[in-house]
Amino acid sequence: MSLCIYVDGKFHTKREDATVCVYDHGLLYGDGIFEGIRVYNGRVFKLDEHLTRLYESAKSIMLTIPLNASEMRSAVVETVKRTGLKEAYIRLVVTRGVGDLGLDPRKCSKPTVIIICDQIALYAKEKYEKGLRVVTCSTRRNRPDSLNSEIKSLNYLNNILAKIETFRVGAEEGIMLNDSGYVSEATADNIFVVKHGRLTTPPAFMGLLEGITRNTVIDIARGMGYKVLEMPLSINDVYAADECFLTGTGAELIPVIESDGRQIGDGKPGPNFLRMLERYREITRTEGVSVYS
Ligand code: PMP
Repeated sequence: MSLCIYVDGKFHTKREDATVCVYDHGLLYGDGIFEGIRVYNGRVFKLDEHLTRLYESAKSIMLTIPLNASEMRSAVVETVKRTGLKEAYIRLVVTRGVGDLGLDPRKCSKPTVIIICDQIALYAKEKYEKGLRVVTCSTRRNRPDSLNSEIKSLNYLNNILAKIETFRVGAEEGIMLNDSGYVSEATADNIFVVKHGRLTTPPAFMGLLEGITRNTVIDIARGMGYKVLEMPLSINDVYAADECFLTGTGAELIPVIESDGRQIGDGKPGPNFLRMLERYREITRTEGVSVYS
């Protein structure tokens, strides 16, 4: 078996059996939250950090998850175990649940809990070796007083519109600015630049999702003796960087070699990026919640 989908307590092995009602407000309104988590070497990487963020997102949107964190942890581990996979991707989704055709969340009596354990490949393998060409998108990241980007909600249209812009001009990723014009993040990944051996990434208040991979890279880099700054970045800082890379659970660490037609550094994945990637690979093999023992 290589696929397992949990829906409200039941496990399914076929996509077509794992269904939700069309009146679910996750579908009708994007009313819900989610997490993307990876399994490396039979271990769920940073599971507790993902669960913490999930429950914080739930609190922000006033959604009470029907499972407590320890039950959710067990459900995630059980879903992975049933696939038998050692390398996998988990998509954990909690929607407001089934309601009527109006917005009113009070009419949704029970949130829907979905845990999908499958595979994911976000970028072609050669992009990890050669690097991505990115463009700055005109679609801005949400203002924190409209939909705070620190909530990992099911509302991704903002990011998807930016992604569409990216493809339309033949680039592989897009950089999103916040409403003040500072760099926020890529369409679904955080961004780092390296300049004179120092790493900089925008702070969470720049309108980004505070990525768990981002925080892992910060820890890795500091542990390796790098100076890491969480500071506002302009797009000009990206053009002038020695190196640039993106981070995310799905994307992992991926280099950026060109931004808006400007070559970054010498146009190849840089040595600091490669050191960071090597360390990331090491820790993902050895850390995490063991599924099979
Ligand atoms: N920003 C956005 C908008 C995201 O959706 C994600 C997750 N794909 C990230 C950043 C990276 O977060 P994480 O490292 O926790 O996966």
